[in-house]
Order: sequence, then C-alpha cells, then structure tokens
Amino acid sequence: MVRLPDKPSPLPVQRHFIDGVFRETAERFPNINPVNGELICQVCEADKQAVDAAVAAARRALAGAWGQAPPSHRIAVLRDIADRIEARYDNFVSAEIRDTGKSLDQAHRIDIPRGAANFRVFADLTSSHSAQCFDSETPDGGHALNYTVNKPLGVVAAISPWNLPLLLLTWKVAPALAAGNAVIAKPSEETPSSATLLAEVIAESALPAGAFNLIHGHGAEAAGEFLASHPGVDAITFTGESATGSAIMRAAADGVKPISFELGGKNAAVVFADADFDRAVEGAARSTFTNCGQVCLCSERIYVERPIFRRFVRALKEKAEGIEIGRPSDGAEMGPLISRDHREKVLALYRMALEEGADLVCGGGIPRFGDDRDAGAFIEPTLWTGLPDDARSVSEEIFGPCAHIRPFDHESEVVDLVNNSKYGLAAALWTKNLTRAHTLAPQLDVGIVWVNDWFVRDLRTPFGGVKLSGIGREGGAHSFAFYSQPTNICIKL
Ligand code: NAD
Repeated sequence: MVRLPDKPSPLPVQRHFIDGVFRETAERFPNINPVNGELICQVCEADKQAVDAAVAAARRALAGAWGQAPPSHRIAVLRDIADRIEARYDNFVSAEIRDTGKSLDQAHRIDIPRGAANFRVFADLTSSHSAQCFDSETPDGGHALNYTVNKPLGVVAAISPWNLPLLLLTWKVAPALAAGNAVIAKPSEETPSSATLLAEVIAESALPAGAFNLIHGHGAEAAGEFLASHPGVDAITFTGESATGSAIMRAAADGVKPISFELGGKNAAVVFADADFDRAVEGAARSTFTNCGQVCLCSERIYVERPIFRRFVRALKEKAEGIEIGRPSDGAEMGPLISRDHREKVLALYRMALEEGADLVCGGGIPRFGDDRDAGAFIEPTLWTGLPDDARSVSEEIFGPCAHIRPFDHESEVVDLVNNSKYGLAAALWTKNLTRAHTLAPQLDVGIVWVNDWFVRDLRTPFGGVKLSGIGREGGAHSFAFYSQPTNICIKL
C-alpha cells in the first residue's frame, strides 16, 4: 500500500463524512490520476475509531429522526438528493473523469445520470412498495389476519469498486435509504472523489445526520475490513472482485449478516451467422471495449458461428484499431486503465494468453504518446483467437479491453461453451432468429442475457449473477427485498 509522508499538502484533502460532519484522520493515501500519474489529492484513511464513530452515528440516526421518518419524507429526501446531484452535474463529471480517466462521453451519458437516477427511481418505487396480507382460516373455525410490515435491516455497509464509482455506490445507497436504513459507504480507494461530492450534496439535503456516512480507505486489513467485520453493522452490500466477496463473506459469517454481492464476470457474446452483421460487430466492440473493458458486464469471450468467423474477426479488429485512445478532456473514446497496478495485472494476462498459444489479432501492448500520458496507465485494445477452451486467459476475468474470439458450429455447443465458466454474470446473443433467442437465453447460466444489445438497463429488473458472479439480486423490488426485513403480524379475529 503506497502512503504519502505525513506532511502538510497544498492539495485539498478528501475527508470522511460522519454524523453529518466532514472529519479528518491522520493517515493519508494518494489519489492518482491514471491519465498521467499525477497526484490529484490526498485522502484520509479511516482507522478503527473512525469506523466505530460512523457505526455509532448510524445507530443514533436509526434511533432518532431517520428511524421515525415516514416513507413520504424518505421519498422527498431521495428526490432532493437526485436534484442536487444534477445541479452539480459538471463537478461530478470532472471528479469521475479525474479519478478514473474514463471517457467524457461515458461519464456524461452513463455514470452521472445513473447516479442521480438511482435516487429518483428508488424514491418512486418507495411509494408503491407494498406488503402482503392474508385472511387465514384458523383451526377453531375462525379467522386471523396475517399481514407483513417491512422494516429496515438497520445499519448497512455499502462497499463499492472503482469502475463505475458513483453509479455503483448510489445503486446501493439509494435503495438502502429508501427502505429506511442508515448507510455507511466505503468507495474504492482508487475513486474517492465522486463519493466525497455525494457526501457534500447529502450534507446540504434534509437527510438527518448519521443516516449517511462515508469512510474512505483501503480494503483488506483496513477500512473495508473494519467495516465488514464490525459487530454494529447489520448487513453488507458489496460490489467488487469475487475473491474480495469471499473475504467479506468470512467477515460477515460471525454475525450471520445478510449479504448482497455483485462480483466478477467472464462474460460471453455469441454471434450467429444470421445476425445483423454490422450491429453485431458494433455491439461486440462496445461490450468489449467500453470503459477500457472495465465493466463487470464486458464480453471477454466472443463465440462466432463459423460461416462468418473470419469476416467477423477482421471487422472487430478494424473497430479495435480505430478506437481513439487518449485524454478524456480531449474527447478520446478510450481512456487508461484505473492504475499502473491494474495495468500490470492486465499485461500479465496478455502475456499469459500468448504463452497459452493465442494468435494475436491486434493490440497486446502499451500505446506511446511522447507526452505526459506515457506516465499514465494506458493499454491497447487487444483481441486473440486460437486459445484452447481451458486456457486461463479464457477462464479468468482480465478486466481490460480484450477478448478471445472462437468459432462454433452448433447451438448446443455454444451453450456449453458459455456455461463452461466459474462465473455467470451476463451474456449477449446476436441473432435475427427470435425463436432461437427465446430458446437459448434461459439455458445460459447467467443473471442477465441481452439479445441484440448490451448494457441496456431498466432499474426495476433483477440484477446480479450466479456462481462466482454473486449472491442475490438488486434492482426494483429485489432491492427492497434485500434492504428490508418483513415481519409477519398475525391478528386473531
Ligand atoms: P475489489 O474487490 O478489489 O474492491 C472493491 C471494494 O472492496 C473496494 O472498496 C475495496 O477497498 C474493498 N475491499 C477490498 N478488500 C476488502 C476486504 N477484505 N474487506 C472489505 N472490503 C474490501 O474490486 P475492484 O478492483 O475495485 O473492482 C473490480 C471488480 O469488481 C471486478 O472483479 C468486477 O467484475 C467487479 N464488479 C462487479 C460488478 C457487478 O455488478 N457484478 C460491477 C462492477 C464491478
């Protein structure tokens, strides 16, 4: 873990937000711009005392005003937060771009609008969140009224990754608050800025102190672990790597805490010969290279029906080589990876693909610019063919702008190929034959299947994965199901 010397810095320090107040802790870590390796600012690292203070504040909020707040108040607060995010839209866009280097287009079209939409959608859904009621016959020939009261879980820890920082954090914070919980958010150490801005926005809203707390810091043996293992935390919602999910599950086991996990993927795109060729190429390019391949839903395995295989590989290569890589502020289509460390990991897997026998179609290295970007974390979009199905580079999540393309001959063969994975998050099918799409989609062991598109989201639908890709579903009523606990009240009539 890199630590900056403990000396005063002219740069602003990003602070925790605990009990309605921004607070500092002594230890700091650097926030680095992946475009050129420059220091953006220092960030406070939460120690155990800071985590204790956040948990205590959250518990007080539940015992006080927030615990008493009726749904109408929660709805008004969530809508107000959405409005306030939109009012500071440009600040959020630039914070997100500075931390991640992601394209301006993506931050504008996806990350920040979705950050606001998460609050608005869950505010709307709160008003229609209903409970069950049964008129039950009793053994004495009489009746009982059985109804359900949905109560919050209590203090929810929301631990999120760096790839879609505001979007994924608010995807947890908004429904948790909507259901009446108090939240302690821990964003990734790589991307603290949009979470700090969210705390500023919330500080100006009518949300009572302590209902939302933010702690910054690292994961293992640090803030993330202190939070996940804290006895005062009632439930954990986590998005990140599958291995981190296992560690958090162990930390949650002692308290038998509810967990909701959105984890890694090794997603497949399947292109049939009858697909609209240009749309399929365009779609596969998007699903492979969006956000420099750093979306959990990205396709890293592409299966193409043999008659169009060679043509498809040529067309996707052309797309990959046409991607403009560079600075988000210059409007480049693809920015860098999140960090030099992550680039080392991705490059190791690029090398492994070649060792395992891959034919390199394009990319495989680091682009050179001849300016400050050479100190950044840029990497080339990369495609391979020719790997065996059991190659580690075809089995392990790489989380970079890359994919292996393999031909197939039969529907049943490709279903087996897609399902032959320890992950099961998402898949995309490209075909004009809707009977085939309806038949195959349910056979895929994944949480979401797109047909003739990718990354289209309706926030009311269930989102999550199977196998190593996660536990549980979030989205719409599924989020309320996780963030609430139903209590059955039985009244003898
Ligand atoms: P990560 O698991 O390294 O970190 C995620 C968060 O967990 C960070 O805030 C980190 O500080 C924290 N953390 C790390 N170790 C911890 C521990 N022992 N205890 C508590 N907290 C800990 O993931 P990342 O590298 O930030 O994100 C990339 C991963 O996230 C990829 O695997 C990607 O597929 C996955 N992801 C999944 C989804 C999904 O919806 N399924 C969405 C986005 C990203």
